[in-house]
Amino acid sequence: MTVPLIDPFARTISYLRVSVTDRCDFRCVYCMSENMTFLPKKELLTLEELDRMCSAFVRMGVKKLRITGGEPLVRRDIMKFFQAMSRHLETGALSELTLTTNGSQLEKYAADLAACGVKRINISLDTLDEEKFARVTRWGRLPQVLRGIDAAQAAGMRVKINTVALKGFNEAELFTLTDWCAARDVDITFIEVMPMGDLGNEDRIGQYWSLKDLRATLAERGKLTDLPERTGGPARYVRVDETGQKIGFITPLSHNFCESCNRVRITCTGEIYTCLGQEGHSDLRAPLRASENDATLEDAIRAAIGLKPKGHDFDYSRQEVDGQVSRHMSHTGG
Ligand code: SAM
Ligand code: SF4
Repeated sequence: MTVPLIDPFARTISYLRVSVTDRCDFRCVYCMSENMTFLPKKELLTLEELDRMCSAFVRMGVKKLRITGGEPLVRRDIMKFFQAMSRHLETGALSELTLTTNGSQLEKYAADLAACGVKRINISLDTLDEEKFARVTRWGRLPQVLRGIDAAQAAGMRVKINTVALKGFNEAELFTLTDWCAARDVDITFIEVMPMGDLGNEDRIGQYWSLKDLRATLAERGKLTDLPERTGGPARYVRVDETGQKIGFITPLSHNFCESCNRVRITCTGEIYTCLGQEGHSDLRAPLRASENDATLEDAIRAAIGLKPKGHDFDYSRQEVDGQVSRHMSHTGG
């Protein structure tokens, strides 16, 4: 292993999130517009290039690798990439290989993912109502995703449900969703909606629902105890005393988590974003393609980490959304 990646604020970079495609079989209203123009294939890193990129980060000390998108499981031959990455688990260089998925392809791939060493998986699910599910995802169908969740559990993977909190949309389902997760022994994390994509222009779905309010509603039904668990990211956890259920909250807007940030993101075109809330990024594809030797790439990675900003500028406290970034969530993978 080479010298670890440490940014100018003394944060060690140990977590890499990689978007392997900008495409998706859903069109969630808070994430994409209905008529998306996707990138030409030649712009994307090939699976071999993704392997080189991720392996360079692993050599430089990344311990946790999360694959995302777009929808990672719609990328052609993506299982070959998971199989390739599993070698880093076998050597112990990587401690966790995981993914975030909409669940649509899990019926097909859950067993293969588990065989590649994927032990935990995040599956996005905003509602248990079929009609509402079709409305929020536009192209998704709930039964297919539920079968995917079944398949993931049957393959022995620990499932975490990610639910975007949308006022006036899934507000009334708060207890239904948490109880459904508890009954299936899956964890649930609520995500505060971020000012990205077409939010605000769409069917009145996607209004900001503060997780502070959501948490207060949960607390009406049971006592919540804060858990000390920290992931280096924006997630915070509580335990419901009565049931023991663990519930997560991801509040990138109303909570400042930047000081412990341990992560960077790579887009499917090989750009590195060192902060989800900032536009600043650097290109790693050119240095990757410039030479078959990874030295140029590693220099470019170090230079990019050297520019990691101290924090983000999202702020909902004013009337308008400040610090809004124009790119879609599917671009950086959330
Ligand atoms: N397609 C996969 C999925 O949906 O899980 C992976 C990519 S998706 C961009 C990653 C996560 O970002 C999902 O949990 C999704 O709900 C969340 N997300 C997308 N747009 C968002 C937004 N505007 N605010 C908050 N979360 C968002
Ligand atoms: Fe696709 Fe995930 Fe974005 Fe929904 S949130 S459109 S499933 S990438």
